[in-house]
Amino acid sequence: MCGIVGYTGKQSVVPVLLEGLHQLEYRGYDSSGIALQRGDRLAVHRRCGKIRVLESDLPKRLAGKTGIGHTRWATHGEPTDDNAHPHSSEDGRFAVVHNGIIENSDPLRARLVEHGVHFASETDSEVLAHLVAAADAPTLLERVRLALAEVEGTYGIAVIDAESPGEIVVARNGSPVVIGIGDKEMLVASDVGALVRHTQQVVYLDDGEIAELTPSAYRVITLDAAPATKQSASIDWSEETYARGEYSHYTLKEIHEQPESIRRTLRGRLDRRFQAAHLGGLNLDARELLNFRRIKVLGCGSAYISGCIGARIVEQLSRVPCDAEPAAEFRYRNPVIEADTLYLAVSQSGETFDTLSAVQEIKRKGGRVLGVVNAVGSSIARACDGGVYLHAGPEIAVVSTKTFTSTIAALALLALHVGRMRDVSVAQGKRLLDALDALPDAIQTILDAEDEYRQMAKKYAHYDNAYFIGRNLGFGVAMEGALKLKEVSYLHAEAYPASELKHGPLALVSPEVPTVFVLPDDDLLDKNLSSIEQVRSRKGPVLAVTHPLGENAERLAALADDVLEVPKLHEYLDPILMLIPLQFLAYFIALERGCDVDQPRNLAKSVTVE
Ligand code: GLU
Repeated sequence: MCGIVGYTGKQSVVPVLLEGLHQLEYRGYDSSGIALQRGDRLAVHRRCGKIRVLESDLPKRLAGKTGIGHTRWATHGEPTDDNAHPHSSEDGRFAVVHNGIIENSDPLRARLVEHGVHFASETDSEVLAHLVAAADAPTLLERVRLALAEVEGTYGIAVIDAESPGEIVVARNGSPVVIGIGDKEMLVASDVGALVRHTQQVVYLDDGEIAELTPSAYRVITLDAAPATKQSASIDWSEETYARGEYSHYTLKEIHEQPESIRRTLRGRLDRRFQAAHLGGLNLDARELLNFRRIKVLGCGSAYISGCIGARIVEQLSRVPCDAEPAAEFRYRNPVIEADTLYLAVSQSGETFDTLSAVQEIKRKGGRVLGVVNAVGSSIARACDGGVYLHAGPEIAVVSTKTFTSTIAALALLALHVGRMRDVSVAQGKRLLDALDALPDAIQTILDAEDEYRQMAKKYAHYDNAYFIGRNLGFGVAMEGALKLKEVSYLHAEAYPASELKHGPLALVSPEVPTVFVLPDDDLLDKNLSSIEQVRSRKGPVLAVTHPLGENAERLAALADDVLEVPKLHEYLDPILMLIPLQFLAYFIALERGCDVDQPRNLAKSVTVE
């Protein structure tokens, strides 16, 4: 789930490991630790809490050239010093860091205990250290391979051995591991972000692969001991892309990056000749695409919500039935996979376990699945038959902002692509492309009003509960607005379709429960205004995010306590514009309430466990 780093080479390893761990910090974690080779022994240091607790605890002089580090997100055993990784064998010869879950750790632990092994932690991961120690093999690579043959579950691991100087062994099954190739140095991490300072040349391990790293070489084999040939890839992002710059938080930085991230998502994809979209990575020809009679979008959290909005756009524009479903719900209900349904898997990290498992289930049953993914080369991207990369750039804050809006832009492109093969006219296509072109500047005008949202947040930060209400695409915006607020400010927020208000939620409306209305200037405006009247007559405070409403503006002014206006652009892109004030609102309310915006409690950036 969380972070792994490793280094072997000419540099002093401790600063490299600590810097790598800091790069992984954004993913959320509860403890951290490092292990390094010192002469013929290993030194292991682990602490519960933030990385700075570990740093302040390290001895002044801690020299070494080979080591591994970890940020833990506890799944088995509380966050304590003893449960933090690395875990060691009893004699201290081997140290292991592990991301993921060892599903058969209970029987393995029982067997090892029977053989006299003493466990020092409550984690599932510790069995790995003892299994490696117990394996009968001449090399560390072979020991790890034998140990893993006994293990069921998901893992990304890195192992060092006091008696194999300069060597790190890593392996992957369901949890990402990337090797970084440097100049007479070799690195490993669970996320390329921790490697970019050192190298742009990487090798992504696949499931079931084990690699042996030394400063000058790497060798990859499979769990069956067959040699694996790997291609190295070069990564686009440099160190600066990962820096927070002038912003006080990554969340704020990423909100502000949205004009640029949307530009990147759209780059090269607007086909002006045919007023259509050009999506090169779908790996589907026109005839294949025409044969799909249904499209299904899958994702988790914000990815699922962006899928809900995207699905409406796809269906309304292309007239191909399309809906979205949480990926885990989908995979556990034994879904019928149809040959004429196109499945889309949405994920920022491309490592979301539930979404990846849904992809695997679809493929196992013979379905066709495309990824809508931000992280290039990630597990979901590789497991899919093709897809659309978001190219939004790395998203460091735990909550998604720029990848959410980029996903909607990408799904709008897909809707246009499919739509132009069917009923969508050249003129309609042109109108959407013109709007997509104008989208980054329209976003910028909203960003420029940041102060207005800061003031508004002061007014709403003290409430304990809030409703977010909308209809059609606006309901998706309400869902995401509520989720953002919940995630970063811990304020309880619930989203409802406006039409459902009177079927239950109205019972809770009172002067203590504000309602945020997503109120586009569309065919449903009248209906939405009467929903606001229902809330108003129960004395509920109302904040409306809306368009310039012309003659209806006065009517709204009489009903709403506060109004935030955004420019009107295009019915399918307005959800992006209406969401941005809600992202700001969540951010500033979280600050007002003293919350850790970039790393909300209990949440992690890429959820690679079930
Ligand atoms: N399951 C392991 C533990 O609880 C690893 C968690 C992680 O991925 O950080 O220690």
